[in-house]
Amino acid sequence: MPYPFAMIPLEYAFNALEPIIDERTMEIHYGKHYKGYVDKLNAVLKGADEEYQKMELEELLSDLNSLPSGPIHNGVRDFGGGVYNHGLFWKVMSPKKQELSKDFAEKLKKYFGSFKNFKEEFNKTAKVLFGSGWAWLCIDKGGNLVVMGTKNQDSPLTEGLYPLFCIDVWEHAYYLKYQNRRADFVDDFWDIVNWEFIEKRYDEYMK
Ligand code: MN
Repeated sequence: MPYPFAMIPLEYAFNALEPIIDERTMEIHYGKHYKGYVDKLNAVLKGADEEYQKMELEELLSDLNSLPSGPIHNGVRDFGGGVYNHGLFWKVMSPKKQELSKDFAEKLKKYFGSFKNFKEEFNKTAKVLFGSGWAWLCIDKGGNLVVMGTKNQDSPLTEGLYPLFCIDVWEHAYYLKYQNRRADFVDDFWDIVNWEFIEKRYDEYMK
């Protein structure tokens, strides 16, 4: 759906991801930070040409470098990225403890050597990222799986990559419970990964 953008519903309760992510953090993250990105993106697009108002968010972020410089470009990068990244983040988490399928484990093995190596590379990316940002598992243009980090709310879509899985390592994602211990948050996060969603997203993209 193009402009005006709406918040996607959270498919579980604010307290459903406890004890990994506490209720208050989810409430503020979803209801304040995420809402802020949606509202600010709509405010920026309100004054934009119809051409941009008619574009899907994925298109805007993929074509970011051809958008007019200034408020539209910056607003899509920061607020549009915030809307898209969080929209995916809510879905890659689940209160239902899941195992990844043999099939997807094989794919991770092919690109990273083993699931353990993949996890290590992803964790390292999330832990060492300086300042605010995200760690990602993406599909590159050649259909390969890659791990990458982005700063601020930058989207892998802008670099031509399709994101499958992510972790938000802005302090607002973990500060109330973990304070400065980002590494503990990243380590704990694996217990709430929604593999079912991620694998389905992979299959749909690769079709
Ligand atoms: Mn966030």
